[in-house]
Amino acid sequence: MTINDYKFAGKKAIVRVDFNVPLNENGEITDDTRIRGALPTLKHILEEGGALIIMSHMGKPKGKVVAKYSLKQIVDAVSAALGAPVQFAEDCAKAADKAAALKAGEVLLLENLRYYPEEEGKPVGIDKEDPAYEEAKKAMKASQKEFAKTLASYADCYVNDAFGTAHRKHASTAVIADYFDADNKMLGYLMEKEVQAVDNILSNIKRPFTAIMGGSKVSTKIGIIENLMDKVDNLILCGGMTYTFAKANGGEIGNSICENDKLDLALDIIAQAKAKGVNLVLATDCVAADAFSNDANTQVCPSNAIPEGWEGVDVGPESRKAFAAAIEGAKTILWNGPAGVFEFDNFAAGSKAIAEAIAKATDEGAYSLIGGGDSVACVNKFGMADRVSYISTGGGALLEAIEGKVLPGVAAIKG
Ligand code: AMP
Repeated sequence: MTINDYKFAGKKAIVRVDFNVPLNENGEITDDTRIRGALPTLKHILEEGGALIIMSHMGKPKGKVVAKYSLKQIVDAVSAALGAPVQFAEDCAKAADKAAALKAGEVLLLENLRYYPEEEGKPVGIDKEDPAYEEAKKAMKASQKEFAKTLASYADCYVNDAFGTAHRKHASTAVIADYFDADNKMLGYLMEKEVQAVDNILSNIKRPFTAIMGGSKVSTKIGIIENLMDKVDNLILCGGMTYTFAKANGGEIGNSICENDKLDLALDIIAQAKAKGVNLVLATDCVAADAFSNDANTQVCPSNAIPEGWEGVDVGPESRKAFAAAIEGAKTILWNGPAGVFEFDNFAAGSKAIAEAIAKATDEGAYSLIGGGDSVACVNKFGMADRVSYISTGGGALLEAIEGKVLPGVAAIKG
């Protein structure tokens, strides 16, 4: 079923959203992006004459009631965003009466799902090494099903709009879907957009396809690099991983960040790119600093000839040009991870050059997807968020999707 086709009039919809918003010490929301992200779905259901039961997690209360993670703190903000009063159920597993009393156009927000260990479905208070762990896990899986069944009993249909947790097989993100038939479960608008974005870079590729992978370590990106190797035309690898590649090739990298146990892996990636005809673009020059600080002394030097006592903190001007050339003319672009320590303004030029090249290519018709944590912060920092095609809201979920993994939250609905 799709959210556009479903007839919500007179129906109760239970909607999994990601309202895990950051709060300050006074319990005030410091960034409401996630609430705004779910509004199209929530408003649509109300406008169509449905009643809303909204559920989410907040923080990591680890199966216990922890006041600082109470969703009660966001009731007024959700109400203001929706333009409708929002009732609150203090206990998400004992909300049957409140749900039953809901009328069309009314909204009920459930308390934090993760106050119950059943949400995540992991046994608590028992070590993985404990011989009784397997039994405890089985028992927890059984009570997770009961918990999901209880949540499902509140509503006529289930909508999942929480992309940020789509890579988790939790009660509210996946297990609950078993209690609705295919005609009564669907993805929300945000999820639909995210799934479409992933499809654009993994299946529906317009060529040339340039992927830019940065960040600190090659080890955390290897799954993605290997999956992309069969799909991209140009692969730019930058950020801290540059120096693992430089060292693997026999270069001198001074104090630069390096994963010494991944030198063979770096050589293997270079070989794979060659074998598959992928244009692998590595930084040839870098901005080196004599300390990990914005005020450090800097010099531009080859990425494979960094003096002792200096470390590569950004890509140099020659590399920026080479990166821009590989991005120019691309029709599909994926960017994950900064080219340097962009948090320090003096080391942000490489990441900025990438953002600018992507914005330019997008103006010229490319599809550009930015996702996975820090690269989103980059485009925001440079004020280019509205000059790219799509910025993913899901960090870990997006990364798993582009590794080619099936997301349980999506599979539970689409099969
Ligand atoms: P990741 O979470 O793996 O995407 O890494 C993001 C982090 O990598 C950011 O905090 C950057 O500051 C950091 N980073 C990027 N380039 C470098 C570099 N050359 N040396 C050290 N850290 C870097």
